[in-house]
Amino acid sequence: MSVTLLEELKDSKQYGKRRDVVSESSGKTYRVSVRKSDGRWMCSCTGWTNVCNKKGTDCKHIKSVRKKFEGIIGQITAVFDIMRSLAGLRSSDAALSTWNANKTKIEMVGEFLDMSSDDRHGEFTQLVTIAKTHITTLLMA
Ligand SMILES: [Zn+2]
Repeated sequence: MSVTLLEELKDSKQYGKRRDVVSESSGKTYRVSVRKSDGRWMCSCTGWTNVCNKKGTDCKHIKSVRKKFEGIIGQITAVFDIMRSLAGLRSSDAALSTWNANKTKIEMVGEFLDMSSDDRHGEFTQLVTIAKTHITTLLMA
């Protein structure tokens, strides 16, 4: 996950997430966004405006952004699983090495959630606190 992608997915007033896509065939730039009110994916290309919008389908620009976005969601889910497994570890060595091995991934997901209006942010912060408390407890035992 690049910093650029994080920047592009930053919040705005009307749209929860947005990203500009450069067309491979025409070189034109299209804006893909998610409408906050109903979660509908939209694109500024004529194909979406004239056809997909009426049919309720996604254009190729939306499909490419969704694929990347769903990749991020996959990473968030993976990190949540790591945090939950951390809380179940019984040895401080195992807990610390799991934490250290996944530190970058955990920080990246935290950064993404900080910048988005994602409702998983609260759950993430809670999981980090639980994991850190657990490691501290194990280390002091
Ligand atoms: Zn499009």
